[in-house]
Amino acid sequence: MILPPIRYLRPDTPADAVALLSEVDDSVVLAGGQTLLNMLKLDLAQPAALVDVHRIDALRGVSQTEDGTLIVGAATTYAALASSAEVYPAVAQMAAGLVDRQVRNRGTIGGNCCLNDPTNNFPPLLTALDARFRVLGASGERVLRADEFFLGTLATAVGRGELLTSVEIPALSPNSVVAHEHLQVGADSWAIARAIVRLDVTDGIVTDARVVLGAVYGSPLRLPEIERLLVGAQATPELADAARGLEVDTADDVHCSAAYRREMAEVQLRRALRAAVERSTR
Ligand SMILES: Cc1cc2nc3c(=O)[nH]c(=O)nc-3n(C[C@H](O)[C@H](O)[C@H](O)COP(=O)(O)OP(=O)(O)OC[C@H]3O[C@@H](n4cnc5c(N)ncnc54)[C@H](O)[C@@H]3O)c2cc1C
Repeated sequence: MILPPIRYLRPDTPADAVALLSEVDDSVVLAGGQTLLNMLKLDLAQPAALVDVHRIDALRGVSQTEDGTLIVGAATTYAALASSAEVYPAVAQMAAGLVDRQVRNRGTIGGNCCLNDPTNNFPPLLTALDARFRVLGASGERVLRADEFFLGTLATAVGRGELLTSVEIPALSPNSVVAHEHLQVGADSWAIARAIVRLDVTDGIVTDARVVLGAVYGSPLRLPEIERLLVGAQATPELADAARGLEVDTADDVHCSAAYRREMAEVQLRRALRAAVERSTR
């Protein structure tokens, strides 16, 4: 469908973007446009103006603070993440495996998170990495944890007139390993279930664990009961048994039944646990 006439605004700084978002009625952020432009073409969204943040230098790229925290600009593309020497391998691999070159060259980590499509790659990974989300608005800045940022299907804490400026990922301990597994409908389509496991392993014992599922629920789903089972256990392949009988509240959709998704979530979680243990012994 041909787009209706729409105002296109291209600010140079995050502050200018926020000013435009508060001043121009019915304006929305345009990042990579990989979802938003499709929504406009399908008439699923009818904003009056687009505030394009894709070329704002301050929102692009990866840097590191003295304590090792990675600061990833919200408009950093998947392609830039995939080739960054700074980001953790788990982040670079996820970016490199995303869909196709066109989406990787345009799509941004900020757009991925702000959309919070339950099947998206980054929300569960960033939840497992304890990321923080820096949000700028007319009245100042907020820094939110993943459980405060992701509010449900296609919903985040970013309010009208606000801009996600960066995603901040705390330094991983040298004893940390991260593994992610997923099942998707086709090579470049929606995920049925994702599992992300982060383990800290010292002398063969798990000292900390994050276990997060994606695509089964509106937002990334942390599984604290399974994390408790893992901490203190020996990092052996038997850890995968912690996934047995996984109970998650999920739903039928056009791709599969709730029962199938639940079962596939368990399979992905077993695989991710096994992969994490394997990495911890290398
Ligand atoms: C064919 C195809 C297959 C895909 N498959 C996958 C997949 O398997 N996994 C996956 O994770 N993604 C997938 N995507 C989605 C893709 O990753 C999108 O890039 C992503 O969902 C949105 O990122 P974007 O930068 O393009 O954002 P846009 O489309 O520009 O924006 C998306 C939404 O976020 C808002 N927004 C964007 N940036 C900000 C910001 N900094 N602050 C506040 N609000 C903001 C916009 O206003 C809009 O509402 C696919 C896309 C396509 C076209």
